[in-house]
Amino acid sequence: MFIKKVAKNYNTPLYFEYICKKKIKIMSTIRFRALEMAQERTLNIVEAPSAKISDYFGANVFDKVTMQKYLSKESYRQVLEAIESGSQIERKVAEQVATAMMAWAISKGATHYTHWFQPLTGTTAEKHDSFFELADGNRPIENFSSSALVQQEPDASSFPSGGIRNTFEARGYTAWDPTSPAFIMESRAGKTLCIPTIFVSYTGETLDYKAPLLKALHELDKAAVDVCQYFDKNINKVNATLGIEQEYFLIDIALYNARPDLETCGRTVFGYTPAKGQQLEDHYFGSIPSRVYAFMVDFEIEAFKLGIPLKTRHNEVAPSQFECAPVFEEINLAVDHNQLLMDLMDKVARRHNFKVLLHEKPYAGINGSGKHNNWSLTTNTGKNLLSPGNTPKTNLQFLTFFINTIKAVHDYADLMRASIASASNDHRLGANEAPPAIMSIFIGSQLSGVLDEIEQTVKKEKLSPEEKTQLKLNIGRIPEILLDNTDRNRTSPFAFTGNKFEFRAVGSSANSSSSMLVLNTIMANQLKAFKNEVEAVAAKNKNIKKDEAILRVLRKYIVDSRNIRFEGNGYGDEWVKEAKKRGLSNIPDTPRALDAYITKESKKLFSDNNILSERELEARHDILLETYTKKIQIESRVMGTLALNHILPTAIRYQNELITNVQGMKSIGMKPETFKIQQELINTISEHISVIKKNTDEMIEERKKANKIDDTRSRALAYCDKVRKHFEVIRYNVDKLELIVDDSYWPLPKYREMVSMR
Ligand code: ADP
Ligand code: MG
Repeated sequence: MFIKKVAKNYNTPLYFEYICKKKIKIMSTIRFRALEMAQERTLNIVEAPSAKISDYFGANVFDKVTMQKYLSKESYRQVLEAIESGSQIERKVAEQVATAMMAWAISKGATHYTHWFQPLTGTTAEKHDSFFELADGNRPIENFSSSALVQQEPDASSFPSGGIRNTFEARGYTAWDPTSPAFIMESRAGKTLCIPTIFVSYTGETLDYKAPLLKALHELDKAAVDVCQYFDKNINKVNATLGIEQEYFLIDIALYNARPDLETCGRTVFGYTPAKGQQLEDHYFGSIPSRVYAFMVDFEIEAFKLGIPLKTRHNEVAPSQFECAPVFEEINLAVDHNQLLMDLMDKVARRHNFKVLLHEKPYAGINGSGKHNNWSLTTNTGKNLLSPGNTPKTNLQFLTFFINTIKAVHDYADLMRASIASASNDHRLGANEAPPAIMSIFIGSQLSGVLDEIEQTVKKEKLSPEEKTQLKLNIGRIPEILLDNTDRNRTSPFAFTGNKFEFRAVGSSANSSSSMLVLNTIMANQLKAFKNEVEAVAAKNKNIKKDEAILRVLRKYIVDSRNIRFEGNGYGDEWVKEAKKRGLSNIPDTPRALDAYITKESKKLFSDNNILSERELEARHDILLETYTKKIQIESRVMGTLALNHILPTAIRYQNELITNVQGMKSIGMKPETFKIQQELINTISEHISVIKKNTDEMIEERKKANKIDDTRSRALAYCDKVRKHFEVIRYNVDKLELIVDDSYWPLPKYREMVSMR
C-alpha cells in the first residue's frame, strides 16, 4: 500500500514499476534513482525539415499567402479588410473561409478543429471537434461550416467568471478572431486545426484576455492616428507592437517528479541555496549545454512551423535558466504566439526528458524569471513612433509619443502594478534581482537632458524667435540611433531602450495581455486627453502655432510626471526610501495591488474608453483574488504535507541514528565529551522539528479560519498575511535540517542537483 502511494506521488509509470519491482521502501531512494536517470540521458537530436528556416516558416499557419491561394479575390479582400480595420465578414465569405480552412487543414493531415481561447485562468483552452459528420444520418463526410468557424459554445461553465455567469445560467461562447491566423497544432498522435477566438458570456461580458485587449488596441489606434495627424496626414493606422522575451528554467523530468512542490506549485517550497549558485556569473551567455541545445532546436523548429518568428536563444543569469525572444509583432499576434510558445515548450520538453519551469521563482535565492514586454507603436507609413527621426518635425512627433507614454504610466502607475500582480510574481518583485514593486521609468541621460531643456525653455510665456530656433535645433539633434546611447539600466521596471519601452516587471508565467491591456488602454486615454489639451491651448492662444501648443502641453506633462522618472539603481534600498519621499506606491503583495483595478479612476478609464464595464472589472478583480487565494492555499498544503510526511520523519530517523550512536558510545565506556557533538545535533534537530511542527499546525489553523471568510478580498488578505507568514519560518527550519541530516536520507532532490545541467 505504502509503495503504491509513493509511486503514485511520483507519478511516472517508470517509477511505479521500479519501486514495485525493487520493493524499495525509503523515500530517499527516489531522489537517487532520479539522479541516476538524469545522468543517463541520451541526446535526442531532431532534424529540421529543411536547412533553411524560410523554407518551412509558417507551414502550419493559414496565413495570408495560403488564404490567397484558397479564396476568391473578393473574399480575400474582405478578410484582409476585416484583419486590418476590424470590419464585419459577410456570412457567405465566412462560408468560403471555412471551406478553405478545412480543405487546407485536411491536406495537412488534420482531423479535428478547435476554438482556441484564453480564459482568465492564464493558460489556453481548447475543445476538439472532428470534421467528420454523418450526412443524412448515414453518409460519412468531412464538414466545417461557417457557423462552426465563427462561433462555438464550449461547455465552459468551469472557467472563472467572477460571478458573471454561474453554472446553471447562460453559457459562454467563443467567437472567431480573424486578426490572428488559424494554425495546426501537431503532436505525434494527431493534428488539430486551432482557431484563435475571444470568449464572452451570453450577456456579452468578456470572460477572457483577448477580447478587451482587442478593444484597447482599437481605441489606441484611433487615438494615435488622431495625434499623428498633427505631423503627417498620411498616417491612418497605428499598430502597437510587442516583442516578448521569455525566460524559463529547465529541469530533468525525473528530478522534477521527485519534487512534489515543483509538480503542484511550479516552485520549490524548500531547498538550501547551493554553494555554487550564480555568484560566479558564469552561466550568462555561456555555452549552451548540449541536451538543452537539442531541446531548443526542436522547439524552435516547431515554433517556426507555427509562424512564431523566434530570433534569439541564450543562457540566462541563473544556472539552468534560459531565454528566447522572437522578432516583435503586432500585439494581438505577439501575445497569441507567446501563449502558444509556452504550451509548445512544455510539450517539446517532454521529448527531451525535461520539464520547463515558467514560474517566476522556482528556486529561492536564485534569480527569478520575467517576460520582458518590449512595446512600441508603428504607423501604416512604416514609422516607429518611439524612434527619434532626423528633423525637428519628426522628433517632435517622437517626443509627443514618448512623453505621453511617461505621463500615462505616471498617472496610472498603480494600475500598471496591478496588471503584473500574481502570487508567483510577488516572489520576484522587490527581491533584489528583479524590478521592485515600485513603478518607475528609466529614459537615459540624453533624453533626460532633452526633457529638462524643454521644461526650461517653454516655461516662458513667450519664446523669442531665437529661442524657438534654438529649441527646434536641439530637438532636431536627438540622434536617430539612440540604441547605443541609452544606458542599459537593467534595474528599471519600465525602461526606454532606444526605440521602444520595455516593461520588465511582467512575470514569466503571465499572459502578456494583462499588462498590454493596461498599457494600451492608458495610452489611448492619454493620447485623447493630449489632443484635447492641445486644441484647448491653440484655441486660447490664436497667435501661436500648433507646434508651440504641442510643446506647451508636453512641457506640462514633463513637470507633472517628473517624480516617476528614476535613473539610478532600482534594486537599492536607497531607491525605496527615495520613492517613499516622492510619494510613489510600493505595493508588495497581490491582493493589495489588485485594488487598483476597482478604483473610481480605473472604472472610469475602462468604461470611458469602451474597454471594460464596471461589472467586468469587478468580475476580473474577483477572479484574480480567487486565483491568488487558491495558489497560496495549494502552496500551504504542499508545504504542510512535505514538512510533516517527508521532512520530519527523515529528521527523526537520522536523530535516532545519532541516539543509537550516543548509547553505543556510552555502553563501551566513552567519556561524555566524546559524544558531545552528537548530543548537540540531537538537540538542534529537536528544536527544528518542534518549530516546524508548531508553525505547520498554526498555518493549518489559519487556513481553516481563512476558508470561512466569505468576502473574496478579505479571504485573499488572510491568506496573504496570516497563512503565508508561516512559510518563511517553516522553510528556514527545513533548510537548516537539510544541512544537518545525512545526505543519503534526504528525500528531496537538492538545489545543486536540480540546477546542474548536463
Ligand atoms: P535585450 O535582451 O537586450 O532587451 P532582445 O534582443 O533579447 O534584447 O529583445 C528585444 C526584443 O524587443 C525583441 O523581441 C525585439 O524584437 C523587440 N523589439 C525591437 N524593436 C521593437 C519595437 N519597435 N516594438 C516592439 N518590440 C521591439
Ligand atoms: Mg530586454
